[in-house]
Amino acid sequence: MKAYILHGINDIRLEETAVPRIREDEVLVRVKAAGICGSDIPRIYVTGTYSYPLIPGHEFSGIVEAAGGESGRAWQGKRVGIYPLIPCGECVPCQKKQYEMCRHYNYLGSRCNGGFAEYVAVPVWNLIALPEETSFEEAAMLEPMAVAVHAIRQMELGGQETVAVIGLGTIGILLTMFLKEMGIKRILTVGNKDFQKEMVAKQGIPAGDYCDSRQEAVDGWLQEAAGEAGIDVIFECVGKQETITQAVRNVMPGGKVQLVGNPASDILLERNLYWKILRNQLTVKGSWNSSFTHDESDDWHYVLKRLARKKVRPGEYITQSFPFERLEEGFHIMRDKSREYVKIEALL
Ligand SMILES: [Zn+2]
Ligand SMILES: [Zn+2]
Repeated sequence: MKAYILHGINDIRLEETAVPRIREDEVLVRVKAAGICGSDIPRIYVTGTYSYPLIPGHEFSGIVEAAGGESGRAWQGKRVGIYPLIPCGECVPCQKKQYEMCRHYNYLGSRCNGGFAEYVAVPVWNLIALPEETSFEEAAMLEPMAVAVHAIRQMELGGQETVAVIGLGTIGILLTMFLKEMGIKRILTVGNKDFQKEMVAKQGIPAGDYCDSRQEAVDGWLQEAAGEAGIDVIFECVGKQETITQAVRNVMPGGKVQLVGNPASDILLERNLYWKILRNQLTVKGSWNSSFTHDESDDWHYVLKRLARKKVRPGEYITQSFPFERLEEGFHIMRDKSREYVKIEALL
């Protein structure tokens, strides 16, 4: 089969390699669509990964082509989405079905071979069946959508709140999409690209509720836009000191800040900001990955239900799709920021 194999930092090659052997508890998935995650770019070009050679890619969907044992038999021929985290099943979080916090997990595409290949060995446990209405392209976006939904659902929103989303990268845009779908009364957005402004406009967010941080002072803008009522919840989707500070400073007393963005460097908690957390009795919370319990109530089912009913249309955010052989162009766009993008996928 063909696969993108990472041999070291900045050394990824499209090569011919053996189709993976599957164990008793695994199936062989023929990949139909695979998305590039923001985290794949440093993994490939900057920081590298846990061991080499490795096939990256953790956002993918496909068809089950073979089963290693009895447990996979019923999946044969099925269209599937894949939860990329393989939990140990034994640690304390795993016992509570909080697999996203597993202490000893494996991970398709970062710790073991993932989706930038024609075939992947996937544990039966990690499969989710796709409804007929859901395309492979949409299903390759299940993971980032579930990550966005995970951050939202922990905030227990009722609908009448004013919320703000700071940072409109892929997760910020998907988060805004789901907030809109939930019918949140007011969604204030902060971005720094004309392209992001167009994206939120497409979601039905009024132009006046978008702030371009290159042109406006974000603190003043948020205060003015929210008015007396204030902002109940702020989603921080950047991971920088500046934006975390904006979130803590501008949420209303008793409000919540949901930290979603991955940090690019150390973040200093200034004393004034610390005071804000105390005096305003803020909840500053972290969100990581997504819940996947095979239960209707998990984040993946939440997303799938809305996909099936066409309540959300993530396909609109696939800004570039390449044939598999040209996926490297997608890596380069994201690495060099040479073009605007929300989600870049390979189709097989
Ligand atoms: Zn991802
Ligand atoms: Zn575990």
